[in-house]
Amino acid sequence: MLRLALAASLFVSLFFMPAFAATYYEEQTDFDEHSVPEAGYRWDRQSLQVCISKEDGVPNKYYVWSKLAVQDWRSALREYTGDADAWSMSARYAPDGAMAGCDVRVHIYDTYKDFPGYPDQKGAYTAVQYTGGISDEADVYLSPKVLHGDGSTEIDLPGYAFRNSAVHEMGHVLGLSHNAKIKGYLMSPQFDFWEEDDQLPITTMELSTLAEIYGSRGLAG
Ligand SMILES: [Zn+2]
Repeated sequence: MLRLALAASLFVSLFFMPAFAATYYEEQTDFDEHSVPEAGYRWDRQSLQVCISKEDGVPNKYYVWSKLAVQDWRSALREYTGDADAWSMSARYAPDGAMAGCDVRVHIYDTYKDFPGYPDQKGAYTAVQYTGGISDEADVYLSPKVLHGDGSTEIDLPGYAFRNSAVHEMGHVLGLSHNAKIKGYLMSPQFDFWEEDDQLPITTMELSTLAEIYGSRGLAG
């Protein structure tokens, strides 16, 4: 009887055990694509200092969400590669004009109309300067107010959508390009995250591509 009960409880616990137990990323199970195209640049330094500025009228939560996007990648990369010392990147507040020494500058604007790249750029975007495939510096432009792909509908991004776009742009900073699939993946090009109802996770697909780009030693691999 005891043996039977043990067998039954073992069965139950196996049955209910989650298939995948990572804390900071999810397993990608939608395999239309198996990897994310590489952007053609990568960092080669021990650590990355991300500085975040915001326009005066931008609520503080957007700064916090941008900072969390950096932490999301760091936690996911460390967990995925099993190296808690690598992938050193941190984010701090730095007003525009006080960003000397920052590897990555994140600018949060009131509206997309204030983007330096407007009117060409109407949604979040990233510009990375690199030499011989090695990144020198990067700028990320974010705003809670963007223009829909239809060219006329202004969108106030819900919190999760802004967070998605911040994580997506940090993916570009790290060296990821866009998936072919127009939407559904974190690195899909179509900027329609407001159609989701939650933040998109970082998955094994983005992480395996980054692990391939950087090898096993993190940013200085
Ligand atoms: Zn993008």
